[in-house]
Amino acid sequence: MKWEDNVRKVVPYVAGEQPNKERMIKLNTNECPYPPAPGVAKLAEQLNCDALRLYPDANTTPLVEALASYYGVKKEQIFVGVGSDDVLSLAFLTFFNSEKSILFPDVTYSFYDVWADLYRIPYRTCALDKDWHIRPEDYRQPNGGIIFPNPNAPTGVLESLDMVEEILKANPDVVVIVDEAYIDFGGVSALPLLEKYENLLVVQTFSKSRAMAGLRIGFGIGNEKLIGYLNDVKFSFNSYTMNLPSQVLGVEAVKDDAYFKEITGKIVATRERVKGELKKLGFSFPDSQANFIFASHETISASQLFYALREADIYVRYWDKPRISESLRITVGTDEEMDVLLAFLRDYVDRF
Ligand code: PMP
Repeated sequence: MKWEDNVRKVVPYVAGEQPNKERMIKLNTNECPYPPAPGVAKLAEQLNCDALRLYPDANTTPLVEALASYYGVKKEQIFVGVGSDDVLSLAFLTFFNSEKSILFPDVTYSFYDVWADLYRIPYRTCALDKDWHIRPEDYRQPNGGIIFPNPNAPTGVLESLDMVEEILKANPDVVVIVDEAYIDFGGVSALPLLEKYENLLVVQTFSKSRAMAGLRIGFGIGNEKLIGYLNDVKFSFNSYTMNLPSQVLGVEAVKDDAYFKEITGKIVATRERVKGELKKLGFSFPDSQANFIFASHETISASQLFYALREADIYVRYWDKPRISESLRITVGTDEEMDVLLAFLRDYVDRF
């Protein structure tokens, strides 16, 4: 068909499945097992439906202000998007606009190569070392931009702030994006480096540590000029991206810092306990600082385990891809959910 010659053809990102069973344990897409802050539910009930007649604030001003005050930056330094996927995708479009290849790790968030292909951005991947760490020397080659998650996904491995700064120092001529989707589970954010590096964009999300994946809220923090460029592209694409309820409820979530610290602390404690239990069962994994564990078993294959767990309505994430097909990414749920998972695994491993 002739018209098909002019179609932009892409291989889309494959999101984790979203099963909807009454009794299931869902540990496959790194959602928070706890509800959003109590004030969010209260406010959701009181939402004024008449306000939905009108377009929302295209600048998401109250949310930008709440985040600016929380992170101690100017409001001109904040960009809000519909999930961090939206922020990252617009950042690819805005900042990765060179003939040179952008760089990211070979094992990383599998949306990066999809956006690069979609926007026709050339890219090169840099192999992680045998312990799944980034080798900063790989990021000394000529490039058109750099992106990596910290902690990385799906490994959970955290890089030190020194390592992040080493990459920034070596790359003053391109934008460096640090995707901090999982930073609130024990990592150290690159935000303090913003004072020194105007080419840094830090991206975070409400989907994991703030328990609001369903509202789709993400944000980027950077130098005013850099955020200005991002806004120019956003406003050339779609003005009213974030709906009113997300804006209002997002502000409410930011207000309750005690709750935020309580749930992230609980997830970290559960993660550390589960690491010990998994080890006893013959699993090994890099030392995750995220809300998931990337585990492989000494004798049982990851695909076999994945299907066995699925059969029992326990959902984890598995990729049949080079380098990672021997591991399962297991989101940290509540203690009770993890106990069901561990009981299943104990029983299953015993049979082999
Ligand atoms: N970055 C990383 C590394 C992720 O794993 C995810 C979750 N899939 C995202 C960004 C996007 O999350 P969201 O769009 O829900 O903010």
